[in-house]
Amino acid sequence: MHDHRKLGRELNLFDTDPLIGAGLPYWLPDGAAVRHVLEEYIRDVERRAGYRHVYSPVLGKRELYEISGHWAHYSDDMYPPMDVGGEQLVLRPSLCPHHALIFRSRAHSYRELPLRVAELGGMYRSELSGVLGGLTRVRAIQLNDAHIFCTLEQVAGETRAALELIRRAYGALGIHPARYRLSLPGPGGKYVADPDMWRRAGELLTEVLDSVGVEYEAVEGEAAFYGPKIDVQIADGAGREATLSTVQVDFHQPRQFDLRYTGPDGTGHRPVMVHRSIIGSVERAVAHLIEVHGGAFPAWLAPVQLVALPISEAEVPAATALVRQCVDRGLRAELAGPEGGTLGARIRDARLVPYQAVIGSREMADGRVALRLRDGRRIDPLPAAEVLARVLALTSGHSLDLWDAGASPG
Ligand SMILES: [Zn+2]
Repeated sequence: MHDHRKLGRELNLFDTDPLIGAGLPYWLPDGAAVRHVLEEYIRDVERRAGYRHVYSPVLGKRELYEISGHWAHYSDDMYPPMDVGGEQLVLRPSLCPHHALIFRSRAHSYRELPLRVAELGGMYRSELSGVLGGLTRVRAIQLNDAHIFCTLEQVAGETRAALELIRRAYGALGIHPARYRLSLPGPGGKYVADPDMWRRAGELLTEVLDSVGVEYEAVEGEAAFYGPKIDVQIADGAGREATLSTVQVDFHQPRQFDLRYTGPDGTGHRPVMVHRSIIGSVERAVAHLIEVHGGAFPAWLAPVQLVALPISEAEVPAATALVRQCVDRGLRAELAGPEGGTLGARIRDARLVPYQAVIGSREMADGRVALRLRDGRRIDPLPAAEVLARVLALTSGHSLDLWDAGASPG
């Protein structure tokens, strides 16, 4: 596997500047394109699965985190509060408290549950500069987060559904879990003291893991401070593990924020909060994608999906027209003209681009496109409209295949 820090710079995906600070990478246009597509994919998957998206601010008052329990159990990872006109504001270490307040702001009936609130939002971790690097150890994190407010009876089904979303996303992204981990509290950790709550939540997650039939390891000392979780672990080239995706059961924050819904009996009931993330932080997900694919992203994620290569100056107008057609249809396409060197040199430069369209005099004359695929395959010349239709069918379906030889034209 590759080192995403080295490759990320070489491929102009992201970089850092000492003046911005360690652990605060910025995204260059090609990296931003990958991130944007990934975020849109996640939002789309969530919309289809019944999630509603919100935006909430990255700051909150210190009291908010005192109520949620972060202040008592998680302050080592939080930035110091900022004094603003007598109030103390904190850069948020998680999105849960904001989503709990969003739930609390409106009355809810049991008929609305499960209520799935999702946000791709910023959160902040006060890491020491010595441990920072690339996209994996950062101080500002864009989290793919969601909180499902539901009844106790709905927890298992929602957890199973979240695991299924994770499985499908990994399939589309071409990544594989290193293992599933049932993360339990351990001795000496800063956990909310409520043995009965921990036991019930742990049983629920165990039941789900057993019912979906994945192998997992129970590990002590890895739980969130408010509850146990299922973590989907990934590994880098050196075998170092990190958590990418997670599903957590939380009885604590609903109680802290006094969340209620009206049950069929007309009285107030406490919902359970299921916290879940499909791809974890956008930073860590993209770092892993860079390492796994060596920069050769699945075609639907690639910063440039198609490059048009006119053999000589005479074919530049035809190649430009093809790029225009691609961009109009929603593909990310670029022209690599003769000023970029010999055709061989330009093909080498475009080796990570999934689709390379070489335009010579013959192609120009009959409006056809001879496609070279990134994996070395060559496709017989086809009408441009058919090439586009096939590429679009594959990319909009989030396929890992570059070509579907059996597809019917159009
Ligand atoms: Zn949460």
